[in-house]
Amino acid sequence: MIIGHKKQWQIITKQKEAHAFLFSGQESLGKKKMAVEFAKFLKCLKKEKPCNCCSACLSIDKKINSDFILVEQEEDIKINQIREIKRRMFLSTDSVKVTIIDKAHLMTKDSQNCFLKILEEPRKNTIFVLVTEYPDLLLPTVLSRVRQVKFFPVSNREIKKYISEEEAILFSLNRPGRAIELTSEKIKEYKKIIEDFKKISSANMASRFNEAKKITGENLSETFFIWLYYLRKKFLTECERGENYTSTKKNIKNLQEISSLVERTNVNAKLATELLLIKLK
Ligand SMILES: [Zn+2]
Repeated sequence: MIIGHKKQWQIITKQKEAHAFLFSGQESLGKKKMAVEFAKFLKCLKKEKPCNCCSACLSIDKKINSDFILVEQEEDIKINQIREIKRRMFLSTDSVKVTIIDKAHLMTKDSQNCFLKILEEPRKNTIFVLVTEYPDLLLPTVLSRVRQVKFFPVSNREIKKYISEEEAILFSLNRPGRAIELTSEKIKEYKKIIEDFKKISSANMASRFNEAKKITGENLSETFFIWLYYLRKKFLTECERGENYTSTKKNIKNLQEISSLVERTNVNAKLATELLLIKLK
């Protein structure tokens, strides 16, 4: 089930020439999900779009199809892994083979150069899909050899066709993956995060320091996400009521910057968060 992204699906399923794609866009939009559905579409024995019940579709879902490789990990993607992918993908070209590299920005520079060599000698029946939130961390030479497909947030109306929990949709910030994962317990937890954040925003400097110290590096990106949800909602309300939204806008900008720094660099997450809370207006 893919929620939204109809145009992207049409682009990838209708084209015949590209053998390497790059799916880019924020996290939890459904990029990896679409890459897997695309693999099933290419391998489906019933040639339906995809049928989800033939042995090819099922074996891809279970990640046991020998013509299907899915790299999904949180640590660096090493050159040896890329070499192994090359070996498997080029074994024979009788059947369609699909490799998906999720979080492709985790490929080291060496890995990317090795991957580039694969792209430079395209073989029949081999399809690659790179998935990333940070396409700018990929080498320009890699980018120039892949067909880029951009993913955008999905409207609440579209998500509603598949998910009925109103609050899960609201908290998803237009990201279907989030809406699917959110349980009522999680929503309760999110509400608590918002209440704590409100308290910090209105507290004096000394209490802010103390509160900031309590925030751990654990699930920090999730905490940032919820703060952003709250600030965006606040911003919209202020706009609607014709109130001054300058501070909220500034807070959103700071939060986005710090959240991106924490995710993409080795910056000390705890320090960055403390700084953010102190800078709150
Ligand atoms: Zn099938």
